[in-house]
Amino acid sequence: RYGSSEAAVAGRTSAETFAHAQAVIPGGVNSPVRAFGAVGGTPPFIASGSGPYVTDVDGHEYVDLVGSWGPALLGHAHPEVVEAVQAAAARGLGFGAPTVTEVDLVDEIRSRVPAAEMVRLVSTGTEATMTALRLARAHTGRDLVVKFAGCYHGHVDALLASAGSGVATLALPDSAGVSTAVAAETIVLPYNDVDAVAEAFATHGDRIAAVITEAAPANMGVVPPGPGFNAELRRLTAEHGALLIQDEVLTGFRVGFSGWWGLEGLREGWAADLFTFGKVIGGGLPVAAVGGRRDVMGHLAPVGPVYQAGTLSGNPVATAAGLTTLRLADASVYARIDQTAATLRTELSRVLADESVPHSVQWAGSLFSTMFGPEAATHGVRDYAAVQASEAWRYAPFHRALLEAGVYAPPSPFEAWFVSAAHDDTAVDRVLSALPAAARAAAA
Ligand code: PLP
Repeated sequence: RYGSSEAAVAGRTSAETFAHAQAVIPGGVNSPVRAFGAVGGTPPFIASGSGPYVTDVDGHEYVDLVGSWGPALLGHAHPEVVEAVQAAAARGLGFGAPTVTEVDLVDEIRSRVPAAEMVRLVSTGTEATMTALRLARAHTGRDLVVKFAGCYHGHVDALLASAGSGVATLALPDSAGVSTAVAAETIVLPYNDVDAVAEAFATHGDRIAAVITEAAPANMGVVPPGPGFNAELRRLTAEHGALLIQDEVLTGFRVGFSGWWGLEGLREGWAADLFTFGKVIGGGLPVAAVGGRRDVMGHLAPVGPVYQAGTLSGNPVATAAGLTTLRLADASVYARIDQTAATLRTELSRVLADESVPHSVQWAGSLFSTMFGPEAATHGVRDYAAVQASEAWRYAPFHRALLEAGVYAPPSPFEAWFVSAAHDDTAVDRVLSALPAAARAAAA
């Protein structure tokens, strides 16, 4: 059922591999959160995945609640996706020339989010947001960008910025290696704070090219937009001639058939100027996209003067995985995922209450995460300051107990939990039976 273990081939344990990896790869990992720094212990090295499960090289099987950080909407190694990938691979891994599958994937995206009138495929969400900013600056002839504290848009220099002192001031670098000059082109505001956005526009309105926001933030834990927040961003940007960029790299085609826009903008009759997508649209392989208004997208080379390119952009194997995933992701898939997420949220809250652990299970569509602490429990968490004030230390023992019971939750308190359509009753029951011990660990 789980195929041959990589361990059988490699003959090395997670602990041995991690020890060596740390000598040859910074932190032993190719993306920081994988190092388990926030929860401690050795990260399991994954050998294989099937449906809702992953198996590590040591032979432990886990119910996976990370889902490749979003892409695994249908679970791991879905047979039809694997078949499409194998067929595409057999035809050649990449040509650096246009292929039909790329166009089909773009059409699939457009059919779900019609405001993405034109779409350019890239390989990572980081590239997508970087290109969206460049487009917004080119379109408006302005330099400044507004982002929200706690929203993550990839490791684009301008978006690795922290709030300066006071609202509506230019930001400071949030990572070594980001220049002060680049950070100073970003204004970082508290999330869910319409007044702060209005003040930024009042102070710098004619210099702001764009407001970029996660359509529903899930990278500081899940912090849903308050009622009307996104619509107000739409209104203010339009009023001041700036573009609204909704980053749906994480929410896109995960929280619903038309992403977060389908849950909000579609109902309210508005859309962003630019969208970024990623994760699900690659089905587990590297595909992301920027899409939006035809007049804005028309600035991109080779039609317009905004340069953007990629050796691997629209790669035929990757786009085959994404296209097949999206074509399989019908309403029943989203209904199933919503149902599973609701079950887990309810039980999570119940077992934590049983152990008197103060908490708020926060959710946006099928994305959810738990914030600990009395403040979170009383008021909920609406912005990054509240996230930082939460009792995040409770998460490490909670996570450890889950892992020991065969549940692979995200190794950070500030990440959403991801379920897939493959999480059947057996998998969900395994999570539910692991929760009480984890709640006791969080209480300690
Ligand atoms: N935007 C959002 C909302 C994300 O969640 C992420 C990644 O987690 C990114 C952008 C960056 O995408 P990538 O990791 O593919 O560069």
